Amino acid sequence: MRVGVLALQGDVSEHIDLLRQLGAESFEVRSAQQVATLDGLILPGGESTTIAQLMRYYGIETAIQEAYARGLALYGTCAGLILLAKRIEGRKDGSLALLDVTAVRNGFGRQINSFEADLSIPVLGEPPFRAVFIRAPYVRDPGPDVEILARYEERIVAVRSDRLLASAFHPELSGDPRMHAYFLQMIAAKQPTAV
Ligand code: GLN
Repeated sequence: MRVGVLALQGDVSEHIDLLRQLGAESFEVRSAQQVATLDGLILPGGESTTIAQLMRYYGIETAIQEAYARGLALYGTCAGLILLAKRIEGRKDGSLALLDVTAVRNGFGRQINSFEADLSIPVLGEPPFRAVFIRAPYVRDPGPDVEILARYEERIVAVRSDRLLASAFHPELSGDPRMHAYFLQMIAAKQPTAV
């Protein structure tokens, strides 16, 4: 299974390490050509406006939209969630605009730009998931096909919709591989032969 990590800006190597530990073939993705060869792609945290501009400049935005239509699975974390969202509060358009939610950027306010919390994420099993939030967004107005995977103080912070997974927190920073393992299972479930 080939799972890339978009490496235009933001944190990349921690994702690659975790994916490799879990047995996936993983590498940095910087071109539209690479996107076409993938089963899954992680859109990492960083600065969503910068990543969106670079994706458009390199033709990667269209490549991802086309690959998604052909079966690619996507996992957006933090800024990556914002890139996936169909709607971004305060903006006219989304970037990839695939996930039927509204993303609220920096949704947890200035006073708590960064924090950690133990989340209950039932699809990952009983033990709580230690989640790291860094100037994190949250999700509003999920469409009917969007499954809510986790909330933090009422706010939606992890969702899934078909081949799209998104979390407001950084799953690569707490040493718990369960979100990445869940993403790999999502990909495997869509393939004729599992990993
Ligand atoms: N606040 C950032 C943005 O809007 C996201 C922060 C992150 O990815 N850690 O792009």
